[in-house]
This record gives sequence, structure tokens and C-alpha cells, in this order.
Amino acid sequence: MVDEIEMNRPTWVEINLESIKNNFEAIKNLTPTGRVICVVKADAYGLGAKEIARELEKHSAFAFAVASMEEALELREGGIKNPILVLGYVDTRNLEVAAVNDIRITLFDKDFIKRLKEYKLDTPLYIHLKVDTGMHRLGVDPNEVMSIFEELSSFRNVFIEGIYTHFSSADSSKEYTEFQIKKFNTLLNGLQNRKLKPPLVHAANSATILNFREAYYDALRPGILLYGVSPNINLALPNDFSKAVSLKTRIIKVSHYKKGEAISYGRTYITDGDKTIATVPIGYADGVPRNLSNTGYVLVKGQFARIVGTITMDMLMIDVTGFPYIHPGNEVVIFGSQGDKAITLEEFSQRALTIPYEILTRLNKRIKRVYLKK
Ligand SMILES: *Cc1c(COP(=O)(O)O)cnc(C)c1O
Repeated sequence: MVDEIEMNRPTWVEINLESIKNNFEAIKNLTPTGRVICVVKADAYGLGAKEIARELEKHSAFAFAVASMEEALELREGGIKNPILVLGYVDTRNLEVAAVNDIRITLFDKDFIKRLKEYKLDTPLYIHLKVDTGMHRLGVDPNEVMSIFEELSSFRNVFIEGIYTHFSSADSSKEYTEFQIKKFNTLLNGLQNRKLKPPLVHAANSATILNFREAYYDALRPGILLYGVSPNINLALPNDFSKAVSLKTRIIKVSHYKKGEAISYGRTYITDGDKTIATVPIGYADGVPRNLSNTGYVLVKGQFARIVGTITMDMLMIDVTGFPYIHPGNEVVIFGSQGDKAITLEEFSQRALTIPYEILTRLNKRIKRVYLKK
């Protein structure tokens, strides 16, 4: 581990850029257009937006999508040149900043058109119109779309470059997703007939990429799939995808206790015999859910070891009784693989009663991100 010398607290997220690149290529190969809008919002799901976008740009990612102007500008500061789409809210005071930085904004509310009048620059401002086909979060009603195109046609420097929608249940409901696709297609046909259809139609998040080839349109819009993580534990990934993220730490103390000793806050675990207990420097402040206290497990020396006692803010304890040659410095895998065993992020998240998205985005910034190039 190259960076380990600088690592005082030996807790790190390992991010395999080679796997991310391969996953990206696998996604790209699925689409005839080769266009992939890589979703790197929330600092690329906590993994480092600049680093990941740089890697994907090298391999000709078509564009990037983020949640806010701040996230978009961070990518520009990091040297990212490709188009960036902001999926969420942009304040009208930022329209000029968006245009001069080649950042596309999303129009998701008809009332916003009034405010677009504040945009006065000669530089064209490109927008993507978001249509609500059933997610009911952001987006204009399909019935409003024609009038939006009409109104916007009078703007000198504002152009509709794209139109998109978002599926709420592509990982879980065929019927509902097909209903959303149909709604979107009806709208697209209407636009096509009036020669209004914008050049970029997109809809497919990771679950849609896996389940609904008929909704690929002009560009795919994956996030979690880039990291080799399935959007739903019941949905297996094709073989050409590989895991790109693991969470690791090292034992900092090994203790031996007799029967009847209480471990950690609140004495929720009492040793039921002679036990070897190891302390590892990762806790709920790092993003390990506290509800894994006494129920989660980790990998040490290629074996599963139970988390015992209540998980604390910065540390947790594991039962390594009977493990050979345990000592401070031994690697502990929270999720990822070790030897021939693995704890997948999907399993880990399910055990914690949540989803991989939440686990990844909540990994604290104090955990070092280590990028592997192979
Ligand atoms: C987050 C997001 C995506 C990517 O979702 P994944 O499930 O990670 O692929 C795509 N589109 C929109 C609008 C999003 O908010």
C-alpha cells in the first residue's frame, strides 16, 4: 500500500480506477451511440469526483452529471473539460457562470422560464428539459412540454439541448417502468412530429441499463454501476463488471478477556468464555452504521470475524478468538475481499438495513481515499 506511510490512522477506502474504467467500457459497449453521461454527484458517491471524472474523461466519457453548480465548478477546477449537466436546482444568479463554464442546467419547472429572462449573455446557455413521467420529484408535466418549447423558441441565447426523465422503480417494477417509458415515448413522438425533438434524449440510470434496453435513447446515465455495485441486491451484474470499492482498516490493539467481561458502551456484549478481542480504528463517524453493533462482521486473515459490543464513534471491536497470529497491523476488511472470501457492499448495506448508495456517500472525508491503478 503506497500511501500507507502517510496514513497515521490506518483506515482507507480503496478505489480501483482500472475496474471503474472497465465497468465504464462495459456500459459504453451496451449502447450504439457510445454516449455515457457519468453521474458523479455527491463527490462521485463519496469516492472522489475529480479523480474519477479525470479517469473517465481519459476514456472518452461523453459528459458528466452532478447535483449542483458547486459540484460542477469543482469538476471544472479539477480540469474536467467535457460537458457537465446539473441535475438539480440552479439559482438564476448562476446562469451566466453556468454558460461560461460550459455547464448545462436542468429546466424542471415551467415557472423557471420567467427567470431565464435574466440571462443576457451572448454565450449560449444550454438546458436539458426534465420531464416527470412518474417519479414525482423534479420535472415538468408532459402536457406542459409543447408550450415550454414554444416559449423558449423566443429566447435568443437559450437552447434546449436535451430532454430527459427518471425512472422511480427500474430495479423493482417492470410494469411501472414500462408505464413511464410509454409516457416518455408518447411525448417524444409528439416532439418528433413537430421537428422539435432535441438532439439528446436520456433516461437510463443503472437499474434501467440492466433491465430496460428499450429505454437507452441517445445516452446512458449511470452512477453506481460505474463502481461495480448493483442498484439492487436482487439484481446480479453481468460478468464483465467488477467491484471497484473496498473499505479497509488495521487492528490497533489485541486484548484477551476471561468469561463475563463487558465490551464497549452499554455492555451490550459479555464474553461467554475466553476471548481474544481486537480493536479497529473505524466507527460510526466514519460511516459504519451503528446498527451493525453485535450483528455485523468483517474479514481478518481471510476469515469472518464478528463485530462485538456497541460500535463507537471512531472505533469498534471484533471477536478474533482462535485466529492465528493476531496482532496490531493485521488488515481488516469492512467490505471488499480478502483471501478467497468477500463481504460485498450490497450484503453489508442490507445487513445495515440500508442501500449501497447511502453507505458510500456517508463515508467520512477523514477516511483516506486510495486510488489503485491495477
Ligand atoms: C443519481 C441519478 C442517476 C444515477 O443513478 P444510479 O442508480 O446511481 O445509476 C441518474 N439520473 C438521475 C436523475 C439521478 O439523480
